[in-house]
Amino acid sequence: MLKSLQKELEQRKADGLLRQRRLLDSPQAEHIVANQKPYLSFCSNDYLGLANHPILIAAMQNAAGDSGVGSGASNLITGHHRYHDALEKQLAQFVDLPAALLFSTGYMANIGVLGALAGRGDAVFADKLNHACLNDGAYFSHAKFQRFAHNDVKALEKLLQASTAKHKLIAADAVFSMDGDIAPIPEYLALCEKYDAYLYMDDAHGFGVLGEHGQGSLNHFKIKSPRIIMMATLGKAAGVAGAFVAGEQVVIDYLVQKAKSYVYSTPAPPALSATLSESVRLIERGDDLRANLYQLIAYLKDNLKLSKWQLLASDTAIQPLIVGDNKKALALSEYLQTCGILVPAIRPPTVPVGTARLRISLSAAHTLDDVKKLVAAIHQAESVL
Ligand SMILES: *Cc1c(COP(=O)(O)O)cnc(C)c1O
Repeated sequence: MLKSLQKELEQRKADGLLRQRRLLDSPQAEHIVANQKPYLSFCSNDYLGLANHPILIAAMQNAAGDSGVGSGASNLITGHHRYHDALEKQLAQFVDLPAALLFSTGYMANIGVLGALAGRGDAVFADKLNHACLNDGAYFSHAKFQRFAHNDVKALEKLLQASTAKHKLIAADAVFSMDGDIAPIPEYLALCEKYDAYLYMDDAHGFGVLGEHGQGSLNHFKIKSPRIIMMATLGKAAGVAGAFVAGEQVVIDYLVQKAKSYVYSTPAPPALSATLSESVRLIERGDDLRANLYQLIAYLKDNLKLSKWQLLASDTAIQPLIVGDNKKALALSEYLQTCGILVPAIRPPTVPVGTARLRISLSAAHTLDDVKKLVAAIHQAESVL
């Protein structure tokens, strides 16, 4: 086995697909120290610049002082702390849904929820560009797994029309993690009503960023329905870690009984929940942060003028620059790195073959000057690469 692992790694390297971790030596922020060098970073999902926020650092220190550092037992034994409970209620109220449930990570939420809500005889309908953990959740469920072309409402309707499944669950990213575009959620909801289906919406990249005060994609579209179950992660715009699922009370009650990644796992430390409660308050009061973020997005889109490479149409903080070839994408990323700027190259299997890209991710913590530096460096790179 070891020999075949080695061979596969060597093949990956030859294909320009070997991934390497950088050693981070600073807090996550727009200016970081990685592999002992300072960089201007466009890599993180910390869209509001909260990951190193002094209010949240103080909240974590205080909460550790009065609740300790570990949860110590699973949720259904003695692990469910008052801080977890308060955060669940706060999140449900913030996203305007009846109830919410915390998970330790978004990955665990997706495998837990799909595994619990769908089973043999049911069907999960999934966008082809969904995040990997939605796919894993669908496999986990043993339901029939039917994928449709990206954001293709007509293709989805055909599948729903032909389906004889007992329960039908549509699963989609609300904001696509490698493309930045937004799913047609209102159209999906209309299909749910027409075909008696339910929508499981992963708002990892919408929560904190979209909506009137950062409530996310449902608020962005101003839609509400008992057919919607949403998930959002708390390690991206919220700046900390974890995830929550929100929906009808009966759904949450059912998940407490049946979501295996909830039942058989130790919850994140209560101090994280106390920190997240402060973070949700910062998100709610963060209209200025979002205004700055949207100004930076507009600046980038208006000023990046390229002939070889192309920005995908995206109005969110995720601005993908499509290069195509794996090695070229890597070369561009490396060129920017020599200019002191970090932007990750994203290659297959994370994205489809032939669409290797730079995933530029903007944050409210960036300044206009930061984005100007990035634009100038990419223009320079296009003329030499
Ligand atoms: C990051 C991400 C997840 C996983 O969340 P974690 O909390 O990082 O495990 C799930 N779905 C989408 C769309 C994501 O981008």
